[in-house]
Parts: sequence; structure tokens; C-alpha cells
Amino acid sequence: MKPVDLILLHPPSVYRFRELPIFHGPISDVIPSSSIFENYPIGFLTLSEYLSRHGMSVRIVNLAMKMLRDFSFDVDGFLAKLHPAAFGIDLHWLPHVDGALSLAEAIKRLHPGIPVIFGGLSATYYRQEILRDYPFVDFIVCGDSTEEPLRLLMEAILFHGDYGTVPNLMWRDGEGKVTENGISYRPTHLDYVHFDYSHPVKMTMKYHDPSGYLPFRNWLSNPVMAVFSCRGCLHDCVSCGGSASAFRGICKRERPAFRSPELLAKDVRNIARVTGAPIMVIGDLLQGGNGYAETFLQAIRRYRIRNELAIEFFHPPPPDFVRKMADSLINFNVEISPESHDPRVRKAFGKSYGNDELEASIDALIA
Ligand code: SF4
Repeated sequence: MKPVDLILLHPPSVYRFRELPIFHGPISDVIPSSSIFENYPIGFLTLSEYLSRHGMSVRIVNLAMKMLRDFSFDVDGFLAKLHPAAFGIDLHWLPHVDGALSLAEAIKRLHPGIPVIFGGLSATYYRQEILRDYPFVDFIVCGDSTEEPLRLLMEAILFHGDYGTVPNLMWRDGEGKVTENGISYRPTHLDYVHFDYSHPVKMTMKYHDPSGYLPFRNWLSNPVMAVFSCRGCLHDCVSCGGSASAFRGICKRERPAFRSPELLAKDVRNIARVTGAPIMVIGDLLQGGNGYAETFLQAIRRYRIRNELAIEFFHPPPPDFVRKMADSLINFNVEISPESHDPRVRKAFGKSYGNDELEASIDALIA
């Protein structure tokens, strides 16, 4: 098989979790993955699909998953056999900081000549520190939407192009000089990416590597899928790295980039064609406005989706919208995170609704 252009590696949160005595505490109780955070970001799928669509070969390897499933899995032995043109490592969620940096160090030790690329919100936030203090990281593709910048970087790596022209890139040259090109690639919508779950299925077969593509432990027995209405958020919760001000400060994004509601409904339909697994609809439909949410409901109604839809809201959906959902969807639930029963605590956290609004929404949902 022709050498792969890019291998995207997902590290465990703590690289030596199999050797160290660690008490993780309840850090992953509300997400599907274990405390090793073996769930790779959905961005791996959109990056892989986008680059593949543009003629490059990309393989995803969920290294955390392999280490978790088999405690005798030989990481160095596995990595030593890989020879892509470049390695990409996600440092999106901060819990992966040890895993991502340790993995990059291991790759450079085994393959000193192969470039190592970082990406993700945490890598973007800490880009200067990473390139200053960690010589085994060569490139950071910054921002929240890196499909096109990564394609351009891969072109530059493969064909000896000019790194200085790649948007969103921060990089170190052969003399150790670090250059920041600036985050200029900020798409205003999300319609250019394909949330195509048939892509990882095809790649799993191509690379004969089911565990490398599995999203998280127990996914085969308890699968869950997801679609995304946007990147970014209109709200500003104080502890959130994905808030409006965080996106503004880290990614230079002034407004969320929405996926069109018709495409979002098609994403749901495409998943429902191949699996009956629950589908999470992430990003709060009402963030795009009533028109956006109602267009989604009209589109999805036609598809008669039988999968359970778990629809996320950042603000309790008003009763009349709950009734519209009930008219359009066969099987759904709603996810809201009010943080506290005490509205003062909720307000301090950055959420402005009171208990009356929350209770009216719940009343409509259980009616
Ligand atoms: S609503 Fe959710 S995504 Fe938006 S700022 Fe609050 S916690 Fe973050």
C-alpha cells in the first residue's frame, strides 16, 4: 500500500496511565468515554473526509483506545512501523495535554524526520508556549476550522511549498525561528464539511484497523452518534472554553458558524439509514434563531426518523417550540444543563434563565 500522507493520532489523557497510580475522580461521568478520554474529537472525521476528498490519504488511529483495550499494547512498536509524510495529534481538550505532548515526544524519538502537527482549541490557546518549550512539535494549525489550512499545510509538506502562506499556521523553521501566520481562515458557515459517517467505515476497512477508528470503549455495545449545528456559541458561561468570548479570544471568531438546517437534517437522516443508534443534536437549534430551528424540524419531519434524538439546548426551549418538536419528531429527549436549582448560582455561572422558565419547559416536555 502507498504510504499514508497523514496519520491523525488520538492520545490518552495521561500517556503512562497504564503504569502510574492515578485517581481520576469523577471527571468523565457525563461523557461517553472513560477517564482516559479515549473519544477523539469529531474534527478528526471532518479533517480526514475533507483531505481525502481533495486527494490525500489520511488514517485515524485512536491510540488511547488501543492502549485502553489491551494493557500490553506496545505503543513504541506500533508507532515505529508507521511512516506517513506527517503525524497530526489533537490537543483540543485540555485533559490531553500530557498525552499529546508525550506522544509527540515519542514520535520524534522514533521518527526525527517526520513533521508533527498539533491542532485543537487548547493547542491554539497555548500555541506560543508549545512551540517555545516543546521542540518535538513542528506545526500548530490554529483556530476552530482547520480543514482547509491543514490541506494547505499538507500540500506544503508533500511538495516543499512555503509554510508562510498557510493560513492559521504557527510553525518553527529549520533554524528554530517561530512564525505565526495569523488566524485568517474563519469560515462563516459549516456547510463545506461533510459529517459523513460512512467515511470512517470505509477507512476502517481500508486500513484493517477497527480499534483505530472506534470512538470510545463500549461503543460497539452502546453506540451513540452526533450531528453538529454549529461551531462557536452565543453564550458566555464562565468556566467554558467554548464560550462566545473564548472563541473570540482564541479563534478570532465573532459569531458561531452554523450548518444549514437542511444539511443538519440530512446528517441525521444519513446516520439513521445505517444505524438505529441514538443521535445527539449538538449546539442548540435555537441558537440559530426560530427560523433555523423550525426549518430543521420541517426537514426532519419528512424523514420520519425513528432513532432517538437527544437534542441539546443551552436555554430551556419555550413550550410552543417543545410542542413543535413533539409534532415533528417520533422519538426524542432534551438535554439542558441548568448547573443548579438556585437561579443565583446559575446566573453567576452565566446562564440567565429562572426556574419559572425551566419549569414551563419541563412541563411542556412531560405533557
Ligand atoms: S452554553 Fe454551553 S457551549 Fe455555550 S458557553 Fe455555556 S457551557 Fe459553553
